[in-house]
Amino acid sequence: MKHIRNFSIIAHIDHGKSTLADRMIQKCKLISDREFKDQLLDNMDIERERGITIKSQTICLPYQARDGQTYDLNLVDTPGHVDFSYEVSRALTSCEGALLLIDAAQGVEAQTLANLYLAMENDLEIIPVINKIDLPSAEPEKVALQIEEDLGLDGSLIQYCSAKTGKGVEDILEAIVKHLPPPEGDPDKELQALIFDAHYDAFRGTIISVRIINGTIKAGDVIRFMSNGTEYRVEEVGLFKFRREAEKKLSAGQIGYILAGVKTVRDTRPGDTITLRDRPCAKALPGFKEVQQVVFSSLYPISTDDYEDLAAALEKLQLNDAALSFQKDSSAALGFGFRCGFLGLLHLEVVQERLEREFDVSLILTVPSVKYNFYLSDGTKIEVDNPAHFPDPAKIQRVEEPFIRATILIPERYMGAVMTLCMERRGENTSYHYPMPGRIEFTCELPLAEVIYDFYDRLKSITQGYGSFDYEMLDYRLSDLVKLDILVNGEIVDALSQLVHRNNSRARGLHACEMLKEEIPRQMFKIAIQAAIGGNIIARTNVSALRKDVTAKCYGGDISRKRKLLEKQKEGKKRMKTVGNVDIPQTAFLAVLRSE
Ligand code: GDP
Ligand code: MG
Repeated sequence: MKHIRNFSIIAHIDHGKSTLADRMIQKCKLISDREFKDQLLDNMDIERERGITIKSQTICLPYQARDGQTYDLNLVDTPGHVDFSYEVSRALTSCEGALLLIDAAQGVEAQTLANLYLAMENDLEIIPVINKIDLPSAEPEKVALQIEEDLGLDGSLIQYCSAKTGKGVEDILEAIVKHLPPPEGDPDKELQALIFDAHYDAFRGTIISVRIINGTIKAGDVIRFMSNGTEYRVEEVGLFKFRREAEKKLSAGQIGYILAGVKTVRDTRPGDTITLRDRPCAKALPGFKEVQQVVFSSLYPISTDDYEDLAAALEKLQLNDAALSFQKDSSAALGFGFRCGFLGLLHLEVVQERLEREFDVSLILTVPSVKYNFYLSDGTKIEVDNPAHFPDPAKIQRVEEPFIRATILIPERYMGAVMTLCMERRGENTSYHYPMPGRIEFTCELPLAEVIYDFYDRLKSITQGYGSFDYEMLDYRLSDLVKLDILVNGEIVDALSQLVHRNNSRARGLHACEMLKEEIPRQMFKIAIQAAIGGNIIARTNVSALRKDVTAKCYGGDISRKRKLLEKQKEGKKRMKTVGNVDIPQTAFLAVLRSE
């Protein structure tokens, strides 16, 4: 155990976590340079493109230190987005230390603080690392001051590096060996293995990532998941080298994987404890929590023939993403689909992209909603996350909506703009302080519904990219909620209905009408688009009728051009939904989601 170090890299998005991980992997010569592809740990296409880590990965780096000894450095990667903060906290509990990585040009950001607090709550030893010192705009001395004075960390431990050029990376590896404590725990005690992640493999079933806290586990053992009592026989245990490498056993202090023929990640919940059936531990490890979906949206296939494919794709996706929930849903406008629950908007976008890209189904999504509590006059309480289930308004006594506490870190000069934005979004109990000179940490209680609607984009734009944001769930508070319906030629398009606060309803209604007007192609007749609350029209626009045949533009002889135009129309049709007698393109449904 003396030769093990378990650590994580925590950072604000884009400060260079993945790049640093890559350099460490190279320095430890885990794989040949030929096999090396940048950002090894971000191995989903979407992660590479967006440069964010969604699913965490772990890797065991054999490092020959300057003292001549070889150490196993277990790097536990963490997702870098607020949607996944529970996963981050589970990953951190499996470590003794963390590298707090800060961009030398950007300095401390909101997620730097949020992640640092998480690390401190888990009693992790922290090594501050200032990255990107190669940048001309780097101000390492200034950032070092922030680390010492504002974060209160030990300045003598600060490491300077460029993950891009590799400068300073070896010193970081040395610092890990020297300053991070080795794991504790007793290999002879009853088994307590903490699950911090799970991936699905089509051949081997679920690959469970665990930190062994106490005890020893080997192939053939019968394990029990403490949260639900299910039992499995272990087929293989091992370490995460570049590829999985089987080992005879895993014992206290180690981080590795367990294969036990578990068919779905739903049984392997992050935060749960694994023990042995024949010699169980007395108590599960603390901190286990069921994940909570907070954003809901319905997914419909563009072509109704794709319904079965979508069902299969969702099931496959869920094998690897226990945080995704779905159940059947249907709409008069769009046919059969699924109501899905997500951890946040990013999670929703990732799922949408993966379904379209990896499973090749084109989708229409409905406006995302949060979960509301309705208290009805007969004394019952119901939870509603779908506009289709909006109860009879006459029977509603009161409605409550979820609130969050937002923490926003901004340069001082944007204070006014951010304050205005939060007020527009029905913010309450704002307060602020100066965690460091020139920076304001602004906290505000906001309805979650206002945050899932483009809040982050707006914040980025009004602060010219300098604002950073983090949030936590708070409680449920009284709300004045209405159901906003959109009518096309007098018919409600149920998939476009939204649950909105009364104060926002007119603006949202107008916006939806305008967007639809842009997106719905002109047809042979005039199309009326209206927004309504309980039958009262609150906004309207028209798409005027088409006067000429589309092919009229093509002069007589040019058959090929004419054919092309008709083909293009047919292509467009495929991505259209017919509601009543009006063709609504997929883009129209998406446009309604978009803000200005
Ligand atoms: P992550 O979001 O923390 O994982 O950040 P990435 O590792 O994806 O890096 C974000 C961006 O910063 C990428 O474009 C990297 O190429 C760049 N980057 C990372 N480290 C350095 C560095 O040391 N110097 C410079 N100039 N760029 C870097
Ligand atoms: Mg990354």
